[in-house]
Amino acid sequence: MSMRRRTLLKVIVLGDSGVGKTSLMNQYVHKKFSQQYKATIGADFVTKELQIDDKLVTLQIWDTAGQERFQSLGVAFYRGADCCVLVYDVNVMKSFDTLDNWHEEFLKQANPADPRVFPFILLGNKIDIDGGNSRVVSEKKAREWCASNGNIPYFETSAKEDYNVDDAFLCIAKAALANEQGQDIYFQGIPDAVSGSEQRGGCAC
Ligand code: GDP
Ligand code: MG
Repeated sequence: MSMRRRTLLKVIVLGDSGVGKTSLMNQYVHKKFSQQYKATIGADFVTKELQIDDKLVTLQIWDTAGQERFQSLGVAFYRGADCCVLVYDVNVMKSFDTLDNWHEEFLKQANPADPRVFPFILLGNKIDIDGGNSRVVSEKKAREWCASNGNIPYFETSAKEDYNVDDAFLCIAKAALANEQGQDIYFQGIPDAVSGSEQRGGCAC
């Protein structure tokens, strides 16, 4: 009888305070959404087990309060990350403008072996608000940012309505697994879930 080894994958979620990082994690892991806003204190993680093909993986998803100074998150927070999830709110321009900072800071702190292939995923959250009428960042603009940062896979999500949350995290898990296994599937141009366009990303979602 063979013992199945479980692979632990560390995922880090970054983005401005209030964009919905904690809500997305709660929706994915606990299938719950709360309107109440509680700023996350410090850094913490939740875990979720899932099967990808014949592999059992445990996603360890690290959350933080966005308003913390980047540097104060510390090296331990970033160490051993297998995937970095960047989140912005499609209704708040500033949360999109700061993506560059989060992206750079991750690369600086986590210092991955090959920054060109390290998996990032971008989530544009809160697309439910006002039926989309209050959005200020277009999908096109978000995709352009993804393209100019090495074809980062992009998902539009609603933690509130549980829209695209499972698909996004499955993509995240697959990208993290590919990174952990050192596979070079990140550049295979697997079709992206939302647009069907060719994108980088270890996710045949
Ligand atoms: P964080 O600071 O990034 O962890 O953000 P939170 O997850 O705490 O969410 C901030 C606020 O936005 C809370 O009041 C949430 O209920 C709300 N929120 C989060 N995601 C969504 C969403 O997809 N749609 C809507 N309408 N509200 C959301
Ligand atoms: Mg939070």
